[in-house]
Amino acid sequence: MKPFRYHRASDIASACASAAKPAVKFIAGGTNLVDLMKLQIEAPAQLVDITRLPLNGIEETAEGGLRIGALVTNSAAAIDMRVRRRYPLLAQAILAGASTQLRNKATTGGNLLQRTRCAYFYDATKPCNKRVPGSGCAALEGINRMNAVLGVSDDCIAAHPSDMAVAMTTLDARVETITPEGSARTIPIDSLYRAPDNTPHIETVLTPGELITSVLLPPPPSGRQVYRKVRDRASFAFALVSVAAILDVADNRVRAARIAFGGLSYKPWRSAEAEAALVGAEVTRASFNVAGVAALRNARGYGHNDFKIPLARRTLRATLVQAAGIT
Ligand code: SF4
Repeated sequence: MKPFRYHRASDIASACASAAKPAVKFIAGGTNLVDLMKLQIEAPAQLVDITRLPLNGIEETAEGGLRIGALVTNSAAAIDMRVRRRYPLLAQAILAGASTQLRNKATTGGNLLQRTRCAYFYDATKPCNKRVPGSGCAALEGINRMNAVLGVSDDCIAAHPSDMAVAMTTLDARVETITPEGSARTIPIDSLYRAPDNTPHIETVLTPGELITSVLLPPPPSGRQVYRKVRDRASFAFALVSVAAILDVADNRVRAARIAFGGLSYKPWRSAEAEAALVGAEVTRASFNVAGVAALRNARGYGHNDFKIPLARRTLRATLVQAAGIT
């Protein structure tokens, strides 16, 4: 690990001001950043420790939702009874991620901003446009089993690794931030992440020194919520494919549906195509198959990850069968 300076921030304004400078990074749980620093993939000149900032509460909002502070640990969010009762798929998604030890340290803001687990991003002997812009992408012709099939570019096919963010995308969460100039912003979570295009090293729309302060959950929509994750082993593994679904059914027809996939793209992939195919459809496996075909119509495999496309269709169907209570 390269030497770095350390500063513990005592207030939000000074934290943002410090982090607006080049080569300065926020650190909270550090469950991803410290690993990257050990591998010298990240080599900040200074870390700004934000763990003492007053961002670790979960509070009710006037509109009937919840505001989850950026420093709320994944464990604390998953066991909060308001989250469990009103946003069960969020609790399910968080508990499907990482391990108990990591969830005890990892924070809400850090979870959203964690970096891809593309193997070549972590291998400094291989080209990677995300790690070294312009160097190439080893995953395109390499072992790309974990990589993305939707929203990719010729420069990067990395997948976003978060489970929590997939559930939040289905819930239409909004990310609240503050800039070094003191301006507050509210960013729909679906707009937080930038498509890779030819700049895959720029992953979000956040500006230097802009700090995530909280995530706003609107009141839960009606319907049954389910998060389903398919992975290589039953714990401590990233999603091959995951699906977050909220399905509202009346008279054996779908009244409303929200669908997002994990493991398939550079961000949690909200599928307007699947949702459109479901609304008004009969609650049958055949309808759910049609939604799966619509959702993956524009998917592209790169060899090792071709299997993700049929797997995503089947996972969507299984998730919807569970949400609809079909026996
Ligand atoms: Fe790097 Fe992206 Fe290619 Fe992986 S997919 S090697 S992260 S450029």
